[in-house]
Parts: sequence; structure tokens; C-alpha cells
Amino acid sequence: MINMSLATAIHQSKQGAHPRDHSGHIRQIETMHDLFAGRYNSVTTVGETFDGAVVGLGVAEAVDGEIVHVDGTTWHIPADGIPRVAPPELGMPFAVAAFGGEAVTREVPEGAGFADITALVDSVLAAETQHHDYLVAAVKVVGDFSHVLLRSEHGQTPPYQPLGSPGSVTGEVRFEFAPWQGTLAGFRFPDVADDVVIPGLHLHGISRDHSSGGHCHEVTVTSGRLYVWVDDVEVEVPGLPVAA
Ligand SMILES: [Zn+2]
Repeated sequence: MINMSLATAIHQSKQGAHPRDHSGHIRQIETMHDLFAGRYNSVTTVGETFDGAVVGLGVAEAVDGEIVHVDGTTWHIPADGIPRVAPPELGMPFAVAAFGGEAVTREVPEGAGFADITALVDSVLAAETQHHDYLVAAVKVVGDFSHVLLRSEHGQTPPYQPLGSPGSVTGEVRFEFAPWQGTLAGFRFPDVADDVVIPGLHLHGISRDHSSGGHCHEVTVTSGRLYVWVDDVEVEVPGLPVAA
């Protein structure tokens, strides 16, 4: 289902008066509702989704690791925490990718955490006369971090266990680094609990030396640069009409 609040956000974003040179578009494959309901069969591939994307994130088929796309390369971080370049044929049940557009950049202050980065993104949107409830922004933070908490997960075999269900074994593996250097890439979604998007800021990381990465739970910035793409968003759910 396409929830009305996100559909409204998409519509308003497309009607928004942002400068032409910032325009691009964001694609999300599959909804959070389906992911949390345990639909982990792939609906797209790395090659289909991330070819030409500026940033992207996803989950590998059977939740067998995290995916992050940045600087023209797609990385797959399985449960051992060691990133590999993802082959184009690797399947994904969930993915979001941003295309085109021109990033607005800001310095990230020392000590900034998730909430501070979110606030900084929102200030960029406000300066563009946009509001985070009405669009999805693509985000990248490049820099040095005093601390990051990353995670991946062990793949499952059918029948899949829904994420977050009572008593479920999620297979989550956490990796903590202090310090850490690298890039976090992802999206600032509207703060709506609508089963379509993960609300708020969702970032996946890859270290500068490509030795670590994963979904980012916690972060503390030492020095960094924030990139924000203030884009249109297009949500694609296989089997349903394209929204908006
Ligand atoms: Zn994630």
C-alpha cells in the first residue's frame, strides 16, 4: 500500500519550487511494511537499482547483509562485517536510490550525532524552502568520526522471520569502531510511521579503507562534510501502480 502521507509528500515535492539545478529523483523499491512482514525475496538487483545513482542503500536477498552505494561503487556488507563489491546480479528485497541533482554542502560540527545531523539536514531543507515532512532528501556525510556503531545481519532461510516480531531471531551483528573514517550515505525520510518508509535519517556506511561498513546505528562526528540532495522522490512498488 502507498500511504497517503507519503503520497502527499511525493506530490508536494514534485510541485515544490526548488531550484532546477537541484532536481533529481529518488527511487525506493518495496515498502517497509513488506520488509517487516518478512518478504525477503529479491524484487530488484544491484545493477538495476544503483546504476548511475549518486547514493543508495538496501538489504541483500534473505537479509543476507547490508548494501550501500556511494562514489559509483555498490558495497555488500554481510554478517562478517567485511565489505565486498556487490555484483550487479545480487538481489535485494528493499532498496532506495537517488539520481541526479546537485548537492548542497555543509560542515558538520565536532561532536555531532544522529539528531544533530538530522537537524542540519532539516536546516538545509528549510533554506531551500522545503520541509522534511514533504520530501525525501538524499544524504551523505564524509569525514572522521570518533565513534560509529554499525550492524549487519545473518541471512535467513525460508520461512523468513519478520523483523522485530516478538521472539524473532534477527541475526543482527554489531560492529563498533572508535575512531572511524569513511562515508555514511542514505536518506532523510519524513517522520511518518506509515509502513512505507523508515522514518527519519537512515544511513549506511563504508570505511575509507573499505574494511568495514554496514547499517549505521550510532555516530559521533569529529570532522565531516554533509551533502544533501533536495530531490523529487519516486516510490516504486513492484506489482502496484507507481505513486503520484
Ligand atoms: Zn539500514
